[in-house]
Amino acid sequence: MAFRRDAIEISDEARALHREAPAVDLHADTLMWSRWVGYDLLTRHEAMLPRHAFAGHVDLPRLREGGIGAQYFGLVSLPVSHAGNRAVIDAQIDELERAVARSAATGGGGGAADGRGAQLVKADDLAAVERANAAGGVAALMGIEGAHALDGDLDAIEHFARRGVRYLGILHFSANDAGFPAYGWGRRDDEGLTPFGRELVHRSEDAGLVLDLAHINRKGWFDVCALARRPLYCTHTGVAGAFRHWRNADDEQLRALAATGGAAGVIFAPNFLGGDGLEPVVRHLRHMIDVGGEDLPALGSDWDGMIVPTRGLHDASCLPALTTALLRAGLPARVVRKILRDNALRVLGAASPRSSAAAT
Ligand SMILES: [Zn+2]
Repeated sequence: MAFRRDAIEISDEARALHREAPAVDLHADTLMWSRWVGYDLLTRHEAMLPRHAFAGHVDLPRLREGGIGAQYFGLVSLPVSHAGNRAVIDAQIDELERAVARSAATGGGGGAADGRGAQLVKADDLAAVERANAAGGVAALMGIEGAHALDGDLDAIEHFARRGVRYLGILHFSANDAGFPAYGWGRRDDEGLTPFGRELVHRSEDAGLVLDLAHINRKGWFDVCALARRPLYCTHTGVAGAFRHWRNADDEQLRALAATGGAAGVIFAPNFLGGDGLEPVVRHLRHMIDVGGEDLPALGSDWDGMIVPTRGLHDASCLPALTTALLRAGLPARVVRKILRDNALRVLGAASPRSSAAAT
């Protein structure tokens, strides 16, 4: 049975902005559910409960409904055994490739509300995202969450880059070969990147991967910012200046990230935002702008990542409600457009590997 959804309000101006600049979300863990429970990315899902943590925030029909032009899917492995993480990541990439192939074979996704059947298209650089969007499709990008996915082998970076992965999150919820988490098993606040982690930064940049600072501890954050020659992401985060929490980046961290030309995706989890609803999301985005400038903020929902999304953003179809709230809060459309799309894509464009740029 389906429960009544929270009422959401979307203005015409917000809809128009999404048409002109289809949004980019830096992080959703939907592929984890595809692999575990056979969740179908192409079919519209109705949540069993209006707001819940378990799977069902993102699918192709609702991405389209929400004016989202590109979704980064997080590739997650849980380091329970020390070996075999790479295979777990490969299985999630296989899962996405199967969905993309089915989308192409059927001329789109099943259940698209308007029956136009726009496709889910695998994209691994800026040009591919633009092409997919120009054709009315949704670009699927991929990012790895936690360098334990490399199983200790830096050559895996090139392997994953070849498979289309575009960012590498250095940490997740436990210490790994590269560094230490902001929270979780093996946490050490006084240690930054390991020698393996420093090498990983260079190898990732050479392979055209954006490095992702989500989940890394504070010391590691500054190490990566100092080493990086390309813009960075922090794909899903809150900011401590808007709500003090171990999961949130402080002002000094935001300034260091902004100095790389990077972007930070605001997370949609009320426990990290310090409040429920759209207003706390707006507050965190405003603080990012105040501290790091208007080229810093982006979107990093963390949908399907075991979070209960904040009220008003309970699934991908609701995103224009946030756009409406940002415009009503007085942010110029030009800045809202940067939050929706331009900042995230600027970082991707700066990271595209030279070989693929030369080939297109
Ligand atoms: Zn995460």
